[in-house]
Amino acid sequence: MPRPSNASLDIRWRHSDPCPCGSLRLYCDCCLASDGLPRCKLASLNPPGAHSGYAHPQCYMGGTENCGQTLSREHYISRAILDLLEGKSLSGVPWLAPGENQQLETASLTSRILCERHNNALSPLDSAALRTFTQMQAAFAYATQRSLHKHPRFFLIDGDAFEKWSVKTALGLYHARIAAEPRGRIKDLYRLDADAARSLLADGPLPAPLGIYAHMEKPGPVKNGRIAFAPLVSEPLARFCAMSAHLVGASFHILFDRSITPEDHFDTGGYRPWAIDYVGVQRTARIIVSWTENRLRHKIVSYHFTKAST
Ligand SMILES: [Zn+2]
Ligand SMILES: [Zn+2]
Repeated sequence: MPRPSNASLDIRWRHSDPCPCGSLRLYCDCCLASDGLPRCKLASLNPPGAHSGYAHPQCYMGGTENCGQTLSREHYISRAILDLLEGKSLSGVPWLAPGENQQLETASLTSRILCERHNNALSPLDSAALRTFTQMQAAFAYATQRSLHKHPRFFLIDGDAFEKWSVKTALGLYHARIAAEPRGRIKDLYRLDADAARSLLADGPLPAPLGIYAHMEKPGPVKNGRIAFAPLVSEPLARFCAMSAHLVGASFHILFDRSITPEDHFDTGGYRPWAIDYVGVQRTARIIVSWTENRLRHKIVSYHFTKAST
């Protein structure tokens, strides 16, 4: 079966196309940057208005002293994303130490760990993550469905926003004391540098070498097409340092702790890819990953699917 040539995989969005990020706006009014490349924009994650000077004792963003008076009652992973997880795809697994997964019921993922002010300020991350998952589902479906239409199709996701959403989810799992491995709760066994993690939710991208490392090989145990997350811990350092994400056919680690040397644990060739290709039997879906800073355009991670999805 002939593979699509690279030339046929160049971006060909027109200014008047619907934006490939899934926002329902026109490309030229949304993610088209002045240099002609796509770049998603993330709203500010700081609470609006004057600094409140108040630290709510139960809000994990309390260290910023910019809390509101009331705690949020919402799920700390948005309801829409929980629905995508098919109920049981968030697990607690120790890193580099195979063990039994403890499955988490998504219904239990509500916890009063953010004030309303911070919950609202961080909500653009959930919207961006939901768009990312939806786009990746669409790309996977395109690559794996049988069709007479053989042309490649292009999708766009926001890499910076997904990294920050992963940090937010890690903070939520940790502070809600739910994330667990067989020996106990992650919060009781491992340290999370909460100040450092919180600072990553401020404006601007996560500094290198933090961020996404894509697995270059085909993703492992999670069934293709599923979305699943797990916390990753370093046993020797006794730290909760990264998240593992299986996203509809692709597989990532998201590092948020600077005490970890990425070369020791991750496939650094997959660091912050410019594009993710889903190569099906008949056609390819290319997912362009938007980054605030320019990335090398040849840095592409490919996943090959030999069977059509059912
Ligand atoms: Zn857009
Ligand atoms: Zn707060």
